[in-house]
Amino acid sequence: MAIDRYAVFGQPIQHSKSPRIHQLFAEQTGQSLSYVAQEVPAETFTDAADAFFSQGGKGLNCTVPLKELAWAYADKNTGRAGLSKAVNTLVLQEDGGILGDNTDGCGLVSDLMLNHGIALSGSRILILGAGGASRGIIAPLCQQTPHSLTIANRSIDKAVNLATEFSDMTTVTGCGFAALAGQQYDLILNATSASLSDQLPPLPENLLAKHGVCYDLAYGNQPTAFVRWGWSQHAAKSLDGLGMLVEQAAEAFFIWRGVRPDTRAVIELLDKSR
Ligand code: NDP
Repeated sequence: MAIDRYAVFGQPIQHSKSPRIHQLFAEQTGQSLSYVAQEVPAETFTDAADAFFSQGGKGLNCTVPLKELAWAYADKNTGRAGLSKAVNTLVLQEDGGILGDNTDGCGLVSDLMLNHGIALSGSRILILGAGGASRGIIAPLCQQTPHSLTIANRSIDKAVNLATEFSDMTTVTGCGFAALAGQQYDLILNATSASLSDQLPPLPENLLAKHGVCYDLAYGNQPTAFVRWGWSQHAAKSLDGLGMLVEQAAEAFFIWRGVRPDTRAVIELLDKSR
């Protein structure tokens, strides 16, 4: 019998840790499958996804810059993918249709709450950035009943528009970085891609409340600029997005295979090897 095939599409993709993570999940749970990374630019996404599924592929992960395209590609989206208008997981269904889901937000919430014991209820949360990753995390964060959620972005209109989209879920406001002066937050999440070029959004002093936590969605072999900024602000914890990466992958694996892998063992292994 042919082995079930999965893949991650994106550009750039050569440094993706997803094939390794899914291979570790498969070994751990005794599942037989293959998972590869494939360089796919936005212009050829639809053709590449059509080819993958028509040749028997069972599921895809989609990363930068394909998440909005994947949302439009799916025949049907889950509620959380519909809210975020971004999809990181595509699933071939029994009737041949393609279901879109977004596991980024629940991956982040699992990493924060279960792996790091960070309470979200009642906390003042600041998200830096208003791109695809921010879209995916806002609703799952709001579901944890924070005191308030602020989105700050370089292009201010994007932050304001995003806040308006989610304004019925909790107190959500959008603004530029300059408007953060004088404010304080218990949890600051960096969802900008600035860390990928070792840069930092322009952040005012005293932004982080006492005992506050910093979390960069980006990750790397070295501490990111934002993780280092968190240390300089005496954060109780200053974390990167490796745990979120593994948690969102575990949720995709569960959707595809119906089995939940042990994420802690995989996070520890990847953490040691960087
Ligand atoms: P997008 O390209 O959709 O959005 C990028 C965002 O970053 C925009 O808000 C942009 O602002 C902002 N930005 C870029 N450069 C700078 C800068 N120098 N200073 C200030 N703001 C800047 O990217 P994504 O939302 O998809 O990804 C964001 C980050 O999240 C990436 O680092 C990605 O690796 C990470 N991520 C991690 C995941 C994980 O599992 N750990 C999952 C998903 C994402 P503007 O709108 O003004 O251009």
